[in-house]
Amino acid sequence: MTECVLAHRRSLSEYISIVGEECIQELRELAKPLRGARVLHLNATAAGGGVAETLKALVPLMCDLELNAEWCILHGADEFYKVTKTMHNGLQGMPVRLKSHMKETWLKYNSLNADLLNSNGTYDFVVVHDPQPAGVLRLLRQRNGHRNPGIWIWRCHLDLSTPRPGIWRFLKPYVDIYDAAIFTKRQYFPKDFRVPRCFEVPPGIDPLSIKNRLLDNGEVHNILLRYGVDPGRPFIFKVSRFDPWKDFCGVIDIYDLLRKEFPEVQLVLAGGGAGDDPEAWSWYQRTAAHAQGKGDIHILWGQNGVGSPELNAFQQAASVVVQKSIREGFGLVVAEALWKGCPVVASDVGGIALQIIHRETGYLVRSVNEWVEAITYLLRDSEAAGRLGSAGRRLVQEKFLITRYLGDYLRIFQTLSTEVKNA
Ligand code: UDP
Repeated sequence: MTECVLAHRRSLSEYISIVGEECIQELRELAKPLRGARVLHLNATAAGGGVAETLKALVPLMCDLELNAEWCILHGADEFYKVTKTMHNGLQGMPVRLKSHMKETWLKYNSLNADLLNSNGTYDFVVVHDPQPAGVLRLLRQRNGHRNPGIWIWRCHLDLSTPRPGIWRFLKPYVDIYDAAIFTKRQYFPKDFRVPRCFEVPPGIDPLSIKNRLLDNGEVHNILLRYGVDPGRPFIFKVSRFDPWKDFCGVIDIYDLLRKEFPEVQLVLAGGGAGDDPEAWSWYQRTAAHAQGKGDIHILWGQNGVGSPELNAFQQAASVVVQKSIREGFGLVVAEALWKGCPVVASDVGGIALQIIHRETGYLVRSVNEWVEAITYLLRDSEAAGRLGSAGRRLVQEKFLITRYLGDYLRIFQTLSTEVKNA
């Protein structure tokens, strides 16, 4: 059996106060024909990163709608995660190669997990997240001599717009045989993909999670003090996994330019790793070394990420939240900050551009000058910052909550099962 993640119970009724009765009723109607359906979400880690974050809410909410939803994680080890991180980097365009022993390692663990899955029984819908477990479907078919029952969906969270050709060529035969795929943006659909149905669906955040509930000021104040951050002075905040795409060092350079004009401003950087990410600690060390001598910088590290109450407090209290990324499939951290009404300045890349309407819900920037100008403007003009923050919160309310994401999954399940019945 694959290892199942025990999800906390969630009730959709609790969301009425946020999204309204009508929205919840619509979800219940959408779910009616799917009641009792066995659904499996399979991914690489239960902790750290955006996929685990969304599954924590999505799976219990599917169960609350009486789908029989489970969340299982891959059985892996360091040698496998090293390979999958190289694949991840290459699929997002980094010039890396998969050597033959790396391909063998990927196949070995996918094969082992295919075996484990075989004893789970069958599902009506299997959603396989990202490239790490993507090989299980084909390996199951080879093992069992027939196509596994159920509808299989590959949910890719990466920015696949510029993959290294060699890595995509390796992965493609394993993902081409899925019944459908979901990407965060249409621009990520691979041009030579043979999957019959591709859906464009960005994820959403859980407004009721500990990370996103409104904290009272006393709690926020105490958390800041606990981490040595002065609540009486402004600070710029960034949170991400420590990873080559998240450009923490670039944020430090921008801060270094700003502190001449704003000597009182602090910089708080928070992050950690994920169960399947072997690179995080070395990127944390590089960041810490880069911060030396560059002012009032606080760096928070958590093995599987810094905790939710802490992130919540920092996002709530920050003068400006920044998300400087080189690639970003979606960037849940942006939605999380917008939801708290915090003004956000972020790189104009990938999924961030879905969330930030330039000068309306935040600032989308490309050059160092634009970074410095946008943050300077927001530090000087707190009213403008407040207006931006309110517009950001409204956008998340409208488009990027978990309830919308849940509805999209239900619609996709319905569409695909109707197509299978009519085939
Ligand atoms: N996160 C966290 N602690 C950390 C760093 C990140 O809880 O120290 C969470 C963050 O709040 C967000 C998710 O991990 O919910 C990261 O998702 P995102 O889409 O921004 O990036 P990914 O890690 O998936 O590339």
